[in-house]
Amino acid sequence: MNVLVLNAGSSSLKFQVIVTDPERIARNRDERLCRGHIERIGAEAIATFHTRDGARQKFTAALHDVASALDYVVRWITSEESGIVEIRAAADIDAVGHRVVHGGELFSESTLITAEVLCGIEDCIDLAPLHNPDNIQGIRAAQHVFGPEVPQVAVFDTSFHQSMPEHAYLYALPYHWYGRYNIRRFGFHGTSHRFVTERYRSLRRLSSEQTNLITMHLGNGCSATAIRGGRSVDTSMGMTPLEGLVMGTRCGDIDPAIVSLIAAKEGLSTQEVEVILNTQSGLLGISGLTNDMRVLLRELNDPEDRRVRLAVEIFCYRARKYIGAFLASMGGADAIVFTGGIGENSPEIRARICEGLEWAGLKLDRYSNQRLVGLEGQISTADSILHAFVIPTDEELLIARDTVHCVLRKWPRPMPVENSLKVEEVL
Ligand code: ADP
Repeated sequence: MNVLVLNAGSSSLKFQVIVTDPERIARNRDERLCRGHIERIGAEAIATFHTRDGARQKFTAALHDVASALDYVVRWITSEESGIVEIRAAADIDAVGHRVVHGGELFSESTLITAEVLCGIEDCIDLAPLHNPDNIQGIRAAQHVFGPEVPQVAVFDTSFHQSMPEHAYLYALPYHWYGRYNIRRFGFHGTSHRFVTERYRSLRRLSSEQTNLITMHLGNGCSATAIRGGRSVDTSMGMTPLEGLVMGTRCGDIDPAIVSLIAAKEGLSTQEVEVILNTQSGLLGISGLTNDMRVLLRELNDPEDRRVRLAVEIFCYRARKYIGAFLASMGGADAIVFTGGIGENSPEIRARICEGLEWAGLKLDRYSNQRLVGLEGQISTADSILHAFVIPTDEELLIARDTVHCVLRKWPRPMPVENSLKVEEVL
């Protein structure tokens, strides 16, 4: 199946086209035909498209909304310029998979989009007022461009964490706030945590029940997840993505009393303080320089730059503290998996986080750790008790695969599948 994966933001649209079906999924042979993004939708938009062979094409166009941006994307995909011979018309797209940020307690798995599901996503707007409305616009735009014949699937950032038990997702706050306002921990980056968990499981040939891990998604946003029996049992992000680890510009865990204190001292509203906690804190706030870990690592050896050193130390310390907490709360794990821009590409940060985890049985293989930059593999020694792995994440691929699963299970019309395997045999 040719699956178009969409991630619609407030003024941006990211996309990929992935060819996948149950047989390709079972053999890990999915194929990416192209990817790209459009920025500054609403003004003179900038489109950057990448063809299958990696060539980059850049265009500008007046695109006033997500629907016109999607129409532009589809015209490029079906044009000679994209070089995609498999797709000559919009009708050659078999299904569309959407990244949706918040599924609240309504969606514990990816789902085929119906009118009722769309209402459910709307009901979650209160929980993600900055994201769900854009995701809904993306869905409506795809309905407009492809019509009702093309099935669409929503894949939620939150759904993987719906398996957390009550004692992990409830805050120690007046209990009726949970019932009245849905105040609880939801967790995010679920697609990434799930992708690396499933990949680890297939690399190690484990059953779900045997899969006990701590997954560390370290990018601009960062989160850690405790996986027991293949399911998320705790995660560091909470009601919003602000809680937990130190991130590029987000503070992670802080004492909530700081908010009103700073509001009073600086003459700000609590909403304004919250914006600072989201956009001017974390690595950027401590270093006063940047949220970009590559730059911080380059500056690290400058003896003048105490704050750069501090930013990196606090980042790694908090990550190690969460690993320790999850090891204790889960009663141990078999491995730590690093992913995300920092987790996949920075041997230095991985080494700093793993330093001091020898007590838990983790011995870092320094050579493998240095070698694995953007590559998959084991970075702990063979005799470690607690292992460490690097697994590059691929959220779009998981969205495409979930789209295939949902469509083949629930779409009323039979979809063309390129092989004769029964769906149940390979799912
Ligand atoms: P997002 O969360 O926005 O998807 P990414 O997962 O791409 O972000 O991660 C971005 C982060 O990864 C940035 O802090 C960037 O500096 C960092 N990063 C990328 N490559 C490297 C590298 N080689 N070494 C250290 N950090 C890196």
